[in-house]
Amino acid sequence: MPEAAARVPLLDLDEALARLAAAGAAARIAAVETVATQAALGRVLAADLVSPIDVPPADHSAMDGYALRAADASAPGSVLAVTQRIAAGQVGAPLAAGEAARIFTGAPLPPGADAVLMQELAEPLPGAQPPAVRLRELPRPGQWVRRRGEDLRRGSVVLAAGTRLAPQALGLAATVGAAELAVVRRPRVALLSTGDELVRPGSVAPAALAPGAIYDSNRDTLHALLQAAGCEVSDCGNVPDRLDATRAALRAAAAGHDLILSSGGVSVGEEDHLRPALAAEGRVDLWQVAIKPGKPLAFGAVRRAEGGEALYLGLPGNPVSSFVTFLLAVRTLLRALQGADPALPPPLPLSAGFDWPRPDARREFLRVRLGTDGRLELHPNQSSGVLSSAVWADGLVDNPPGQAIRAGDRVRYLPLSSLIGG
Ligand code: AMP
Ligand code: MG
Repeated sequence: MPEAAARVPLLDLDEALARLAAAGAAARIAAVETVATQAALGRVLAADLVSPIDVPPADHSAMDGYALRAADASAPGSVLAVTQRIAAGQVGAPLAAGEAARIFTGAPLPPGADAVLMQELAEPLPGAQPPAVRLRELPRPGQWVRRRGEDLRRGSVVLAAGTRLAPQALGLAATVGAAELAVVRRPRVALLSTGDELVRPGSVAPAALAPGAIYDSNRDTLHALLQAAGCEVSDCGNVPDRLDATRAALRAAAAGHDLILSSGGVSVGEEDHLRPALAAEGRVDLWQVAIKPGKPLAFGAVRRAEGGEALYLGLPGNPVSSFVTFLLAVRTLLRALQGADPALPPPLPLSAGFDWPRPDARREFLRVRLGTDGRLELHPNQSSGVLSSAVWADGLVDNPPGQAIRAGDRVRYLPLSSLIGG
């Protein structure tokens, strides 16, 4: 290990995430935008949404059938006169004793009715005048009725500030009549790659790739992860491995952005210029987080010429490391910046379908996927450079330091779907 790296103490992941959450909360985006409910998918709600109404607004029928007074149906086989018909959107007249109303799903119960008998349990009497129905079964009071306010009460918080809006949350907002929602301005993120070996796909044909060159893949992974997290992303390109170029890139990226995100160049090798560049343009802490993959992380800020500063987070260059550290560290920071809960989602306890006899001394995030037998399969190559493992996987096992795994052991599974876009 180079001398400089040896001097950086290992930092516990939970401690690193707590620092990111605190820094994000301190720099929380205050700007609020009002957007149409249909345009609010993935945005973070800026204020509690309070219901101005009960939902449903009245007792509604949950079935096609007959609305009645449960007390009138004293024995199976009782016959009630059908005195009205109420379809969804219509309002019935008060129901007198001994009467039933033909009613359809979503129609309000007429005053006096307290239950619905589904039509499959009722038998209209042919030719009866006035029309009548025989009850094959007795409904209990409240049966097949959607009670007023059973979904939402007037004055209750429908969606809390800090909620990241899922499709069903938009529907819930609409149920209480919200055509627009107050959401936090999207985080503005400047994205950089670093490395003289990197080539932009499209700029050089695969057959013409020079010796020593590789395609820049992190930029596309991270760009998509940022977009899925609801950010406005500026692609600021690839920065050559030179101190002056790195300083200039950071200065330019600070303007107009909440966060600068880079990958690569955060180790303490001779070609890693981010630390000195950040020290000159703002401030930086280099962290050796005790996780695998993804040990080196740099966190700090870059001064803006116009005043203030942009936060800075530097991820390791290896493609799996930058992917995993995004899901842990960047997600935490972005959620805190928007006032959303920055905690990692709870891991699911699942059975390992593999052995992992030689665990690392650091907390590991293994690429796994759920098999059809309900147990987790391990990707055979856990190298931090093998990005295909992250495509094959549907989740990560969060394995404690030094913990060997035997097939059948309960492990902590984090579905990628709970980390990406959340
Ligand atoms: P570094 O942290 O800069 O030393 O990079 C570590 C490893 O990740 C090296 O093998 C780099 O070539 C690779 N790497 C760095 N950035 C990228 C990138 N944007 N896309 C693909 N590989 C990268
Ligand atoms: Mg590099």
